[in-house]
Formats: sequence, structure tokens, C-alpha cells
Amino acid sequence: MFDLEIENIVAWIRNGGFTSVAIQLPEGLKLRAMEISDRLSQDTGADVLILGYPCYGACDLFVDYHRYADALVHFGHSPIPSQGNDPNVMYIEAKASPDILEAVSSLVPLIPQKIGLLATVQYVNLIPKAKEILEGMGKKVFVGTGDKRICYPGQVLGCNCSTATAIENKVDAFLFLGEGDFHPLAAAFGVKKPLIVLNPITGEMRSIDDIRDRILRKRFAAIESAMGAESFLVIVCGKVGQNRSVIADDVIRKMKAAGKKVYKIMLDEISPTSLMSYQVDAYVNTACPRIAMDDSVRYSRPMLTVTEAEIVLGLRKWDDYCFDSI
Ligand code: SF4
Repeated sequence: MFDLEIENIVAWIRNGGFTSVAIQLPEGLKLRAMEISDRLSQDTGADVLILGYPCYGACDLFVDYHRYADALVHFGHSPIPSQGNDPNVMYIEAKASPDILEAVSSLVPLIPQKIGLLATVQYVNLIPKAKEILEGMGKKVFVGTGDKRICYPGQVLGCNCSTATAIENKVDAFLFLGEGDFHPLAAAFGVKKPLIVLNPITGEMRSIDDIRDRILRKRFAAIESAMGAESFLVIVCGKVGQNRSVIADDVIRKMKAAGKKVYKIMLDEISPTSLMSYQVDAYVNTACPRIAMDDSVRYSRPMLTVTEAEIVLGLRKWDDYCFDSI
């Protein structure tokens, strides 16, 4: 279903004259690591190194690959333009192209007149088709351009819905093409318009309002419980696409000005185990904002995003709660 473009990778390795290549796969594709490794080594003669580290996005790009291999193939994510362009790195976005005519057509009576289209990278190539179908049935359709972390019009990352905010004022609702909750939730956190999610494979249509509201209630509880905190650990991530050192230093400055005791820590993999030794009242996570938002129950102390920390410090009103977009 998802195109791994093995022939294109083989041609790229051959044309580049690479004798060794590292492959980086998200968790869902690691099951296919052996198959991919076999194909690439058989068809190119190159040594293949499977990178076993967790990989959740192009923010995890293994920039040190050249210590071990000539080139890197990163699967499952699009490039993040602000991270630069390395000609020895190939991104395989694992796109899928199901037929969406029937599913999108059936939505027409159920959706408002002005619609914004969004998608994960796997389905971003369906946006022009969905636009054509909807416009052909009388809808007005908008597709937003994102900021420097976004590769394609309409694309949403779990930490960035700038393609949605760019057109929020023009639309009555958004239609999101994708599977699962993770990416649609980013848009649901980031915009105040209704969001309809269409699974392009199954044709299932659903709202994620309940999930969003449940998570936001937990976020308000985390902010509330951090209100009395006196000591904070500000987490900075060493990953290329999650490092926000400048923002971390700004948070630290504001916390010190508010009389808080503050520590700064650098981590790549943020988990309950990696934080358990540090005796503080609360964490502020400047890395992937979804760690705090989606996984907070795993941590023994409140973990705040940057914008949530501003509420704790009294620098932002509760009514101005906003998604900590990277
Ligand atoms: S920072 Fe988090 S949400 Fe953003 S791309 Fe990386 S893993 Fe995904």
C-alpha cells in the first residue's frame, strides 16, 4: 500500500556511487527492515546499516550517518526544509494513492461550503484530487502553505499545523486526510474550526473533538498542578529537528525572574526513566510538544509545554492557551 520506492533508491545509490548506506525507519516500518536491506544490498552491492534508534519524524534525522556510511535513506517522513538539504540523504515518504472518489463525494452533503484540506505526508498527494472532487460538487476549497518546517501545501506534522492556521479565517471547517489520531490532533489543537477526519484507505469519517477535549482537560490539570511548583527542569533536546535552545533559555530567564529554581538538561530520548533521577517539582519540555500533551500520564511530575509554562508564570492567560507549535 505504501510505496517504498525501492527501484528509485537502488538507482540513487548506484548513481551516487555509494558503497555503504544507512537506513532509518519509523517504528511502523521497522518490520520491513530485513526486506529493504536485502533488496538494497543485492541490487547495489552496497553495505547496508540498519539504524535501530527510535525514529518518530524527520526531526529525528540521523545527521551523524557519515561516520558509518556514505549515504542515508530516511523512510516515512518528508524533509523538514528548515533542517537544510544534504544531497547524500534521500527521503522516502511512503506515499499511498487509494481511490478517494467515492469517500470524498459521500462527504459533500455533510460538510460546510468552505473547506480547508489537510493531510499527512503519506496522503498529501491526494489533496489535488480531493480539491477537484469537492470543487466539482460546488464547494469552495482552500489549501494552505506552511512555514519552513513544512514541505508540501496542506501537510500537517504532529507539531506543526501552519498550513491550517494560514487559511483558518477563510474556511468553515477542515477535512483531514489521514489515519490515526496523532496528526489530526495537531490541527485540532492548533485551529478553532471543526475538523473532519477521513481515512483514505477505509473511507471512515470521524470527528476527534472528544479526544482533543479529553487531552486538553488533562493539560489544564497539569498546568494547575504545576502552579505551586518551585523547582523546574527545562528539557532541551539534542535532535536536529527538536532543538529549541534559544526558547529554552528564554523560558529559564522568565522562570528565574519569577523567583523559581531552574535547571537545564539536554536529552535525546525523553522518557520517565531518563528523568526519574532529577528531583524537581515539574518539567518544561522544549522538545517535541506531543511528549507532554499525549504522554503526560507516564510521568510522575507535571510536564509542561513552553506555552503552558507561560500560563504557570502568569505571562499568558488561561484563555490564551495555545498549541506549542514547533
Ligand atoms: S517534533 Fe514530534 S510531532 Fe514534530 S515531527 Fe518530531 S516527532 Fe513529530
